[in-house]
Amino acid sequence: MTAPAAVEILGRRAREALQLERLQGAVAWAVERVAFHRERLASRRVRTLDDLADLPTMRKSDLREHYPFGLFAVPRGELARLHASSGTKGKPTVVGYTAGDLDVWREVMARAMAAAGCRAGDTLHVAFGYGLFTGGLGFHDGAERLGMTVVPASSGNTARHILLLQDFRPAGLCATPSFALHIAETLEAQGGDGRRLGLRYAMYGAEPWTEGMRGALERAFGCPAYDVYGLSEIIGPGVAGECEARDGLHIADDHFLPEIVDPRTGSVLPAGAEGELVLTTLTKRAMPMIRYRTGDITTLTDAPCRCGRTTARMARIKGRSDDMLVIKGVNLYPSEVEGTLLAVDELVPHYQLVVDRSSTLARLEVQVEPAAAIVEACGGFDASHPTLVELRRRVGERLSRAIGLSIELTLMAPRTVPRSEGKAVRVVEKG
Ligand SMILES: [Zn+2]
Repeated sequence: MTAPAAVEILGRRAREALQLERLQGAVAWAVERVAFHRERLASRRVRTLDDLADLPTMRKSDLREHYPFGLFAVPRGELARLHASSGTKGKPTVVGYTAGDLDVWREVMARAMAAAGCRAGDTLHVAFGYGLFTGGLGFHDGAERLGMTVVPASSGNTARHILLLQDFRPAGLCATPSFALHIAETLEAQGGDGRRLGLRYAMYGAEPWTEGMRGALERAFGCPAYDVYGLSEIIGPGVAGECEARDGLHIADDHFLPEIVDPRTGSVLPAGAEGELVLTTLTKRAMPMIRYRTGDITTLTDAPCRCGRTTARMARIKGRSDDMLVIKGVNLYPSEVEGTLLAVDELVPHYQLVVDRSSTLARLEVQVEPAAAIVEACGGFDASHPTLVELRRRVGERLSRAIGLSIELTLMAPRTVPRSEGKAVRVVEKG
């Protein structure tokens, strides 16, 4: 493993002193240059890190309301790059970077990748989408910074990925977890084996994924799976990433200051509590973000990590506050369903939740496929075959127990649950 950077192993007092100095600079920069921040923050004083909790938060809707450039703190001519995320409705959210911001991005991304085992001279296959989405270029730039050889394969076109992985034999793969599984499954259907690609490590992100999914990915490719976290509003991937201990994601907290708030009230929660991650950019110049509500549900810890890094760590994302389903009064994240389903060997790791709100009480149907070996043993797919009836009953009970909600489990014919060549759609609303 590559040794951590000096800033990743700073002692607590030195880290906090650096954070406070940068926070004061970031707030001053934002107030001086952006009307939105001036109106909200001009009267506030930040004397300690704790004072941050008194500042107002901002949300994705603030980006939409100031579309496209209203939150920028530098003139257009000083922007080196623009990215945007496809809004689910209407206008996208636009983010900008100065040349210095891009440099910070490369640095934090390179740190996250080094923590996952990437080394100069290794070849990295990038299966994240390129373009306005930050995934592809984020990994690309970080890998170049580390001195890796990059294969900018982008997303989509599964057959081409398989060809390149087999022929180029990269050391590492990065992709969304759902697309990576789709690649492995397609390869297997062709008589290939993901474990024979010679991958030494893989990095996944851009959608929430569980320990169950980690197991499925590690079985599929025969190499450790690392979680890398980020969002375009803050910088892109590289905000946090797992080290070899894989006991939480190290946040680059010399650039991004994390807090956890109650998603309903917005008030700061005590250390270790689960809630919504709020991030403040400490060094970003083009578009400073002060207390941005990410919508991602997690916990934070300052406990020492055995890798030696002293940065704050966040747990794997449990879900997004706006992905939370309320079914019959029970709060549910799709990841809670995934955790149970992927622990069952007789199922393939593809699933979809169908929420039917046509009646007064919403109903939840979970669609999943039995593993190919089971279907074969049954002499083909027939949902009324005793083996499949028993499997359905057993998984249905296990799931209902785990999430505390009665659900309808449907076993689907092989390869009928939609596969993703980008970000997976886990929840479909019906009615
Ligand atoms: Zn660590």
